[in-house]
Amino acid sequence: MNTHFGDWHVHTTFSSDSECPMDAMIQQAIHLGLTSICITDHNDYDYPEYEEDGTMMFQLNMNAYIAAVAAVKEKYAGQIDIYTGVEQGLQPHLNERINSFNYPLDFIIGSSHLVNGADPYYPEFWEGRDSNEIITQYFDSILENLSVCTNFDVYGHLDYIIRYAPNQDTNYDWTHYQEHIDNILKTLIQSGKGIEINTGGLKYGLKETNPCYGILHRYHELGGEIITIGSDAHKSEHLAYVFHLIPDILKNAGFNYYTIFKNRKHKFIKL
Ligand SMILES: [Zn+2]
Ligand SMILES: [Zn+2]
Repeated sequence: MNTHFGDWHVHTTFSSDSECPMDAMIQQAIHLGLTSICITDHNDYDYPEYEEDGTMMFQLNMNAYIAAVAAVKEKYAGQIDIYTGVEQGLQPHLNERINSFNYPLDFIIGSSHLVNGADPYYPEFWEGRDSNEIITQYFDSILENLSVCTNFDVYGHLDYIIRYAPNQDTNYDWTHYQEHIDNILKTLIQSGKGIEINTGGLKYGLKETNPCYGILHRYHELGGEIITIGSDAHKSEHLAYVFHLIPDILKNAGFNYYTIFKNRKHKFIKL
């Protein structure tokens, strides 16, 4: 497996939906021979669900989190390069909190996990509604996020909603939404932001990465260069999931480089 590019989208127990200790994730990364790993636990302000103890889900305790990543950096120094990231859930009304979010981080993924405040993860979300309309609404909400939220480095799993559509990506053709997607990609490029190639959906049976090859190719065609690589692992066995497929996908889409970030500044590395 070609894993020299590391994994830049990884969750641990600091995320409400992961039970994998940070230590176990790092040990797996070393075991796989990854050169780098960026921990990107969830922070989703105003997520509409609660933990058993009554606290809101997906609220990252930043001070404890940063200290935990610093501890593994020290513990595994010389074995792997560990970076501190966050996957920030974007919603338009949160723009001020998101834009003023200021911590010593290497990398922020901005992601849409909610569409108009509701989570498409749940089957009820789709019941009795037209999938095409929902997907269009999802891309509209990304554009709305982009018009007000600026504090992130790459947009996460761009067409991720397809993971949860009733027929997943069986009938999905990104060109149906091309007008929206072009606007999203152009806005990202103009503001110096990137996208990621996320392999997480493949383990749930998707045919393609998020976003799909067509969108990756289009991003490059429009002049986009910044692309990070992530598995979205929530368990150590999913770290660097099917990363051996990535070089061909990215090269065919026109990329010769992938990207990592340090102190929020991007660095290109040859594929
Ligand atoms: Zn996500
Ligand atoms: Zn994630």
